[in-house]
Amino acid sequence: MLKIDKINVYYGAIHAIKGISLEVNQGQIVTLIGANGAGKSTILRTISGLLKPKDGSIHFEGKSIAGIPAQNIVKLGVSQVPEGRRVFADMTVLENLELGAYVRSDKKGIQEDMETVFQRFPRLKERVAQLAGTLSGGEQQMLAMGRALMSRPRLLLLDEPSMGLAPLLVKEIFSIIKDINATGTTILLVEQNANMALSIANQAYVLETGRITLAGSAKELAASEEVRKAYLGG
Ligand code: ATP
Repeated sequence: MLKIDKINVYYGAIHAIKGISLEVNQGQIVTLIGANGAGKSTILRTISGLLKPKDGSIHFEGKSIAGIPAQNIVKLGVSQVPEGRRVFADMTVLENLELGAYVRSDKKGIQEDMETVFQRFPRLKERVAQLAGTLSGGEQQMLAMGRALMSRPRLLLLDEPSMGLAPLLVKEIFSIIKDINATGTTILLVEQNANMALSIANQAYVLETGRITLAGSAKELAASEEVRKAYLGG
């Protein structure tokens, strides 16, 4: 479904992504794990069109998407939940969700998807008129995920959904991610919580300073001594 081949990404003179290739197959949860600054967010931002690779290629469902405008990538079926949620604080929950559908014009479909989001996140339904900036961290994460789902993505990019959340909420968010995947959405998940990420993923990649150092099934990586030592607390 998504195929990245040997991309290099720079921030000015900083070479953040060094010849990375990776694949996400339809229906799967694929996770990228790695320490702070390894380049995980940079990969997601490059897929979603916020950054342009200097070379290499990115194909989504067979179409080349490297360097095309971000809103066109959303239209093709890829949506990103950014790190730190980035909800629009001065807008209501409802307005944030409506914005997620800005690339669509099928009113009926949008209404159906709004209902699905409310079923998945009942807490958002209770708070439709509340300003997003006054939601708790967990609720903001749910809103950011709900907003991304409003574009009806076939591939959902999640950047550190567990960041800053209490353990119980982390569990809840991961169970929702599994559920979103089970209802047909493919997921590329960036996480520092390697334990949780590997527990729900099919495939995994380990990133170190802009390079992929390990790749395999999530089971294999969770059992690997190297991964256990570096990312799973021994
Ligand atoms: P984190 O979990 O801390 O977000 P990450 O693995 O997602 O880490 P990135 O945010 O992708 O890492 O950063 C990869 C590298 O690119 C880092 O060395 C970082 O300092 C650098 N970088 C990221 N954003 C910028 C930017 N806007 N300008 C310059 N350098 C950047």
